[in-house]
Amino acid sequence: TDKTALTLIGLGPMGQAMVTRFLAAGHPTTVWNRTPARADGLVAQGATRAATAAEAVAANRLIILSLTDYAAMYDVLDGADLAGRVVVNLSSDTPDTTLKAAAWLAERGAELLVGGVMVPAPLVGEESAYVFYSGPREVFDRHAETLAVIGRPDYMGADHTLAQLLYQAQLDVFLTSLAAMLHAIALVTSAGVTAERYAPYLTDVLSSLSMYVDETSQHVDSDRHPGDLANVTMMGATAAHIVGASETAGLDTALPRAVQALYDRATEAGHGKDSWTALINVIRG
Ligand code: NDP
Repeated sequence: TDKTALTLIGLGPMGQAMVTRFLAAGHPTTVWNRTPARADGLVAQGATRAATAAEAVAANRLIILSLTDYAAMYDVLDGADLAGRVVVNLSSDTPDTTLKAAAWLAERGAELLVGGVMVPAPLVGEESAYVFYSGPREVFDRHAETLAVIGRPDYMGADHTLAQLLYQAQLDVFLTSLAAMLHAIALVTSAGVTAERYAPYLTDVLSSLSMYVDETSQHVDSDRHPGDLANVTMMGATAAHIVGASETAGLDTALPRAVQALYDRATEAGHGKDSWTALINVIRG
């Protein structure tokens, strides 16, 4: 079967990994990047180099963007003839910026599919790769097979903001956990225990987190926090102990204090005997 020809703009590590995959899967691929040299290796692999962004947009109906943010999209697409184009924007940004982009593209006769790539560049197109999408269902269906080349396409809904929201939710867990990991390492190394000695225990606590997902989801969706196991009072006391241990070690306490503050406010709101999942009520504000 004929493979859909496409244009990919934005050749950072992500864009380059995607072009390599599309070429390997047999999709004729036109590329453009603000810094032209970043296209050289891809041209050697068989990609077609466009001289300008407008030329890249003119080459194909399917336009994939892999840029730093949505502001870069306006810089790149301003002046291009977008009529009849499907723009798949795989750049990170806030959900509201995706709504503005959808309107801006619609004014120019183009449709937007918002995407959020959930793996680092080296894993693009691998078994574990998946990408959130949102936007018109029919546009997604038309291109799902092509998009599957870079990772399993997971459609979240017609509302353009959804893919971006899910992407940021995943990075919320990721960035907060990475910072917590470093904070814990700072704590143990302050007493001379090396990060390497601590590593297996760190692995243990990180992998145990996934055990809490089902119960947490059930508590939140049912709005019931039975408090039979770990309640807010007990967990809040521990949160204070982590702050104390960090202070003694002379560490920055912003992160554990933020956690402690959630428990304090949950206690003040009368959730002391509820499960720690009742924190959702103070997080929701
Ligand atoms: P880079 O920052 O390396 O690349 C960004 C691209 O955007 C470059 O091609 C750059 O061009 C271009 N760009 C930025 N600003 C402008 C502008 N004003 N005008 C024209 N071009 C511009 O990012 P990555 O490739 O790492 O990531 C791309 C997107 O994918 C980001 O939104 C990122 O959050 C997301 N992502 C990245 C992951 C990763 O592992 N790297 C993982 C998951 C998502 P130039 O080369 O000229 O600077």
